[in-house]
Amino acid sequence: MGNKMLKRNDMIMMGIVLLIALISLGFFFLNKKEGSAVIITVDGEIYQQTELDQNNTIKIKQDNGDYNEVIIEDGYVWMTDADCPDKLCVKHNKIHYDHETIVCLPHKVVVEIVGGEENTVDIIAK
Ligand SMILES: [Zn+2]
Repeated sequence: MGNKMLKRNDMIMMGIVLLIALISLGFFFLNKKEGSAVIITVDGEIYQQTELDQNNTIKIKQDNGDYNEVIIEDGYVWMTDADCPDKLCVKHNKIHYDHETIVCLPHKVVVEIVGGEENTVDIIAK
């Protein structure tokens, strides 16, 4: 009798574990969006579009001599070099999440992640 109860509980536990596993798997697939892109625009025009999961160094050279250098590595994007006066873009943190941007205001350069991982911490904070 007692043994039978234990087995029943085991079955319930198994079911719960399986359910949790399935839910986690579902979340994993929902969060994993295909085709995360890094879009670099200069003065509103697309300068270069590339993949977030493709390590890359992009040099942005404008006709007026303005210069920025962007690095994409292991899903993170940051500005390594620029000859703008404020250097705010170089000081900017690495970006990784969907819709995060690095802006170089003096050069009108915008680096944006599109279709990336949702920043869940940010969503909760809102
Ligand atoms: Zn800058």
